[in-house]
Amino acid sequence: MFSKILIANRGEIAVRVIRACKELGVRTVAVYSEADRQSLPVRLADEAICIGAPKAEQSYLNIPAIISAAEIADVDGIHPGYGFLSQNAHFAEICESCNITFIGPTAQAIRLMGDKIAAKELVRKAGIPIVPGSMSAVRNKEDALKIARRINYPVIVKAAAGGGGRGMRVCHNDVRLVSALMTCQAEAEASFGNSEVFVEKYLQRPKHIEIQVLADKHGHILHLGERDCTIQRRHQKLVEESPSPAVDPKMRRKMGELAVRAAKAAGYTSVGTVEFLLDQDGNFFFIEMNTRIQVEHPVTEMVTGIDLIKEQIRVAAGEPLDLKQDDIRVNGWAMECRINAEDPSNGFAPSPGRITEYYQPGGPGVRVDTHVTAGYDVPPYYDSLLAKLIVHGPTRQEAIRVMQRALEEYVIEPIHTTIPLHKQIFSDPTFWRGQIATDYLDRQLQVTETE
Ligand code: ADP
Repeated sequence: MFSKILIANRGEIAVRVIRACKELGVRTVAVYSEADRQSLPVRLADEAICIGAPKAEQSYLNIPAIISAAEIADVDGIHPGYGFLSQNAHFAEICESCNITFIGPTAQAIRLMGDKIAAKELVRKAGIPIVPGSMSAVRNKEDALKIARRINYPVIVKAAAGGGGRGMRVCHNDVRLVSALMTCQAEAEASFGNSEVFVEKYLQRPKHIEIQVLADKHGHILHLGERDCTIQRRHQKLVEESPSPAVDPKMRRKMGELAVRAAKAAGYTSVGTVEFLLDQDGNFFFIEMNTRIQVEHPVTEMVTGIDLIKEQIRVAAGEPLDLKQDDIRVNGWAMECRINAEDPSNGFAPSPGRITEYYQPGGPGVRVDTHVTAGYDVPPYYDSLLAKLIVHGPTRQEAIRVMQRALEEYVIEPIHTTIPLHKQIFSDPTFWRGQIATDYLDRQLQVTETE
């Protein structure tokens, strides 16, 4: 096991990792930007080192500063959390060359799955269904139009290196496709430093279903069932649940097997997520694999009783998994709301500032993962996630009831948050029935805006 881990991240995930380390008896080092000096991870970690100015490029993305901190503190592992450097193969390589274990998959697996075109090709060869479309980067309009003719509109143009719902454009005709190709290439270059894009069929009103996998360094890979992340705004997840109301045991087994097969094909070792879209006829297709712990991992923890961060740390330390596929049981239902510092009644405008009043819900079946406390200043520099409100109940209906009362209890003032929107979603009969697709929220919001 590690003796000391540096957490190259901030916010709730830094707190989450510190908690897991404490329970494992591992010492922790928080690194922080000048904007996070007073933050909870800094207070909870055994040591804390300032790594730079508030802007992420100068701190949480500043590889030399993070490696220097790791060497000064003499750590033997770095946990990257999610976002920032978590899917940066170059960073993983630098850690290893400094004799510090990167707590994640190998640089090679990150690189392979970080390229969505290469990832699709790899899993297709392993016999996994993929969304139909181009099998290599689309470089010019002639190529794009040829593919659109083959798969028919609507199509979606996506960045090979894309993430966070950015760098995607849906197109319904030739004119739109030609202009989307150029804007996507330019956006991809600016955001991800890689202008490669591809074109695939845009599925109508699908559901987003993903499988959690867990792999050790001794060739054992298992899956921990699915998460349903269909409630999204502009292709970004807002509510997640496990299990999915759309998945039966047979589909769960099939998707799980295919996810394990995808992870094997990539030589995967760590926690990871294989993402699928499920169409209205019950067919599902691989879209990508995320090579890190995900924001929504707690819903899987709540139903399986497995601590994914501790497992991630243990397998990174070289320990073999002592779980078998047959040991994995899904108990009851878990749901998660992402509480963001955004104003849903004003186009989701960011809402930074001081939180003067803070009261978080508790009681049976409630878990809150957050770095927020009363008096916390929400900095304007980073992702707007303030907290994850996670609930568990014996059935989906009961979990919904727990979420409704927890949302009622939650007080975060005076800034704006997504709590009012979550209250709306959780009181909607369409959501109760699970009759939703990825366009659910964008449709709902449009209706609200034009009313
Ligand atoms: P990112 O890496 O940016 O998160 P993903 O490829 O995971 O992008 O897709 C994010 C979301 O975008 C999906 O959950 C889905 O809502 C939508 N999406 C992506 N590809 C398609 C597609 N081919 N058809 C329909 N929706 C899609």
